Amino acid sequence: MLLRILVAALAVSAIVAPSSASPTASVADIILSGPALQGGVLQGTAPAGTVDLRLDGQPVPIDTDGRFLIGFDRDALPQARLAARFADGRTTDRLIAVSPGSWRIERVNAPLRAGRSSEAFLALRRSELEQIAAARKKVTGAQGWRQPFKWPRVGRISGLFGSQRIYQGVPGSYHGGIDIVGATGEPVVAPADGVVILAADHPFTLEGRLLMIDHGHGLSSAFLHLSRIDVKLGDAVRQGQRIGAVGATGRATGPHLHWGLRWHEARIDPLRLVGAMPSQ
Ligand SMILES: [Zn+2]
Repeated sequence: MLLRILVAALAVSAIVAPSSASPTASVADIILSGPALQGGVLQGTAPAGTVDLRLDGQPVPIDTDGRFLIGFDRDALPQARLAARFADGRTTDRLIAVSPGSWRIERVNAPLRAGRSSEAFLALRRSELEQIAAARKKVTGAQGWRQPFKWPRVGRISGLFGSQRIYQGVPGSYHGGIDIVGATGEPVVAPADGVVILAADHPFTLEGRLLMIDHGHGLSSAFLHLSRIDVKLGDAVRQGQRIGAVGATGRATGPHLHWGLRWHEARIDPLRLVGAMPSQ
């Protein structure tokens, strides 16, 4: 259900070759699947002859059929620059307007508490963060990014992506995923096809039993606090396949599923990909 909008209207500087004898591609021929939103992704199609595409300098791979994926962080700036280079050497770029998201911001009249961490914790945490960063760099060729995503679990949403508390003017870190309540042991399924890029064999300090799945083209899911993981590193998973079970491992006040999504480093709102939660 891609609403295809020719984004030529957004072009600010398309350099078009004057030759009419051999029509060549221009950035105006790039088709995007809709408007750009903070915390959202867009699929696009690049014309044949596009040899390099970048969003704000981030290389954007183009599949053999011309399709590609771009994403916009929760705090993406109001404008992004899509730059293309064509086989004949021409380069061109244009600005994309990024609409702001409306995140739940709560102002709290209390100081932000800075937790003290032991050296042992920091050393352990550094190793965990390195494993997560290394997983996110893996390129698997998964094709789930093309699919309409499904909820990994149907249940009440108890925490929204992007929500944030501001303590006496000092912003705390925002919530980087969506929380869905559930009882320990209830199944979690893959929201789209992918390849397992991290399956923690022991609970991480904050994320608990952490499972990460690459959906291809830089898009990856993370499932936190699992009580068990039913897939192994390198496994190819299909949309709807059981991948684990709800739990409360790591830093969690009770059993729930935290589902996070990223496009490379950009944090994406899962709601932007799956739409409304089905009635339970
Ligand atoms: Zn959460």
